[in-house]
Amino acid sequence: MTTLQEAPVSHLRENPFGIAQAQLRRVGDTFGIDDNLINVLSRCKKAVEVSIPTQMDDGSTKVFAGYRVTHNIARGPSKGGIRYHPDVTLDEVKALAMWMTWKCALANIPFGGAKGGVVVDPKSLSRRELERMTRRFTSEIINEIGPEKDIPAPDVGTDARVMAWIFDTYSMNKGHSVLGVVTGKPLAIGGSLGREEATARGALYVLRGAARKRELSLNGATVAIQGFGNVGSYLARFVAQDGATVVAMSDSGGGVHNPKGIDVEAAFAHKREHGTLGGLRDTEPISNDDLLLLECDVLAPCALEQVINESNADRIKTKIVVEGANGPVTPSADEILEQNGVLILPDVLANAGGVIVSYFEWVQGLQEYFWKEDEVNAKLNDIVTRAFNETWATYETRQTSMRIAAYGLAVQRVAEATVTRGIYP
Ligand code: NAD
Repeated sequence: MTTLQEAPVSHLRENPFGIAQAQLRRVGDTFGIDDNLINVLSRCKKAVEVSIPTQMDDGSTKVFAGYRVTHNIARGPSKGGIRYHPDVTLDEVKALAMWMTWKCALANIPFGGAKGGVVVDPKSLSRRELERMTRRFTSEIINEIGPEKDIPAPDVGTDARVMAWIFDTYSMNKGHSVLGVVTGKPLAIGGSLGREEATARGALYVLRGAARKRELSLNGATVAIQGFGNVGSYLARFVAQDGATVVAMSDSGGGVHNPKGIDVEAAFAHKREHGTLGGLRDTEPISNDDLLLLECDVLAPCALEQVINESNADRIKTKIVVEGANGPVTPSADEILEQNGVLILPDVLANAGGVIVSYFEWVQGLQEYFWKEDEVNAKLNDIVTRAFNETWATYETRQTSMRIAAYGLAVQRVAEATVTRGIYP
């Protein structure tokens, strides 16, 4: 039996949970929130670490490490994705769980924050190995999750197929189908129309709002997008539909570039056929590092954390950064970008579309009553636009960054719920 440990080289330059806690303290100072409350909110309610023995196709057994963390449940059951990536660490999962609390509160949906992760490269597993690993992970956290308790969803390296296995494993153990246990499910088993594209659609709505405020038309704007997964690929499609010129896109294998614009639909077809963007016709290769430094109107990091940091922030040449990914800009890079007049649309606002439509999926599942796609998208637009307007108003009145404005609104809501409930006992 072999044990898989964390990958030797990580994309994380700084401890993400340290960053999340420092951001919270800054918000506490800016908004005058009681220190005792900030202390409560700076910790995670619960963190579970499990080992996941998995039989491989060759008969050997590998043991993967998995985590499920609940940050806070003051405003409702906890909600957050499950990430499969070789660099996953407990502190990364804790940071992502805390950001989920703020994201749900900013959107004003009745959830707290959670996150899960498994230290694994899902691409290195066969379909059967991935399924066995997912089902065993679900069994190990079965007492932690549930429709009234903690509801997982997809994140990096997981998708609707993985959610279907989680749903099935949980339901088999309960003896009946439990639609509300997980979101991001396939449509055939209680998924929501519009969920797959929801994160990118939310980012588009936020970007449209910001472009209006900055008197920038998306029609004709140049956009560079890092990450061609769930978030990045649909965002590329949506901005192109709004008339933007997508000048660069990338996946983990590297990027493609054409200053005159990339045919996004051809990129979808190429990725489907070849599994990578590399070699897409009418494009030149570009590295993930150089993509971030392109001169463009909008830069959308939609892959992993900390890609914009103090080593490259002063060379970023964009007007707007829209954070499709969670935590792609470090606090020191935040300051440099701010000084350089770059508008940052923070993760908790820009990528909230995913959890908002997950909320719709959960409601539809609990009611066993499913909505039309137009209805989903219209309700998403309402919630995202309200959150954007509230954040923008706070940004202007407080003369702070969009990030601190968004976190401030969110943390105040969670703090109010905590005070109203009282500290048990
Ligand atoms: P995904 O697995 O579908 O796609 C990730 C993409 O990033 C892939 O194209 C992958 O090739 C690329 N990538 C991986 N490592 C990279 C690297 N080192 N450099 C450049 N690209 C790299 O994941 P996703 O669901 O699109 O999530 C992307 C980001 O968006 C994550 O930060 C995630 O937490 C965040 N997010 C996702 C959702 C959602 O609904 N899926 C919701 C909110 C936030």
